[in-house]
Amino acid sequence: MNVLELKDVTKKYGEFVAVEGVCLEIEEGKILSLLGPSGCGKSTTLRMIAGFTTPNSGTVAIAGENVDHLKPYERNVGLLFQDYALFPHMTVEQNVAYGLRYRGTPKPMIPSRVQQMLSLVRMLGMEARYPSQLSGGQQQRVALARALATDPQIVLLDEPLSALDAKLRLELRIELKEILRSVGATTIVVTHDQEEALSLGDEVVVMHAGKVIQRGSPIEIYKAP
Ligand code: ADP
Ligand code: ADP
Repeated sequence: MNVLELKDVTKKYGEFVAVEGVCLEIEEGKILSLLGPSGCGKSTTLRMIAGFTTPNSGTVAIAGENVDHLKPYERNVGLLFQDYALFPHMTVEQNVAYGLRYRGTPKPMIPSRVQQMLSLVRMLGMEARYPSQLSGGQQQRVALARALATDPQIVLLDEPLSALDAKLRLELRIELKEILRSVGATTIVVTHDQEEALSLGDEVVVMHAGKVIQRGSPIEIYKAP
């Protein structure tokens, strides 16, 4: 079954068409890479799925249900956005617990879920630290734990590795894929890095100037002219 379905989605800012007639679907447990140059509409597409922006036309469905009327917090979507860093005034534990509290997880269940998530991203023992006391890679691990904590129907990652240096980016890329696989997360990962898109995705969708111009398996995209 398709966990996510975008049908003919268009988003304009004034006269400017940022996203035009985009159709997307993802099967459960798959990772889809959304690849394209800066400004081609990738983030806008993610924002419409998350519910931060409303399409001018077209529909967004999650698990077969049209979500156009749902606010961001009413959609069970896990987010790791560039402009949505960890809350600096909260500890690691509080950051990971945030989404759980927000979504009404019974209080007694929260600590064990937080521990489970920190174990998944190999950050056990760091509970009491603040984001400023963590390296960039550690911050991204915690952000991933926060994104996955509510067992979201879909996980949206916007340039999750681009703030890291090259060596760390490669290490974390491999680990990111393992973690997403191990929890069976249905994921869209936005990147402008072709190598990253090909290595992370089961499927790659290429955007240019607001439109989808190509889609296929990583091998098909790699071989395409
Ligand atoms: P990408 O994520 O691929 O870099 P974006 O989705 O962020 O692209 O942006 C697509 C286009 O829409 C860009 O030209 C950008 O300048 C424009 N855009 C994005 N957000 C807004 C906004 N709030 N108001 C006006 N233009 C915007
Ligand atoms: P506007 O409607 O003025 O464009 P938005 O409400 O869409 O503003 O949000 C502004 C920015 O904040 C967007 O980049 C969005 O991704 C981000 N944002 C807002 N709330 C959240 C949230 N809960 N999680 C992640 N990002 C968020």
